[in-house]
Amino acid sequence: MDEQECSQVFAMLSEYLDDQLTPSSCAELEQHIQDCPPCIEFIESLRCSVQLCRKLSKTAPSPAPSAEQVDALRMAYRDMLDRRSKT
Ligand SMILES: [Zn+2]
Repeated sequence: MDEQECSQVFAMLSEYLDDQLTPSSCAELEQHIQDCPPCIEFIESLRCSVQLCRKLSKTAPSPAPSAEQVDALRMAYRDMLDRRSKT
């Protein structure tokens, strides 16, 4: 796995967060993260965040995460790639 693929995962993140991924993109994403421990870890934490967000905003019409949450996740992803390139 190279970091370019991780970057592609990163590019799909906002769609993933909004559940806007097409089935083929989703399959691509899932396939990549199966073999990429840093991405597995990240996506797992992402899922937790999204689920938590949805639980908290159960009564709200839109379950999409806030811009702040998306920003935080983007930063977390960059940090993850950073750590990864140093090890
Ligand atoms: Zn990856």
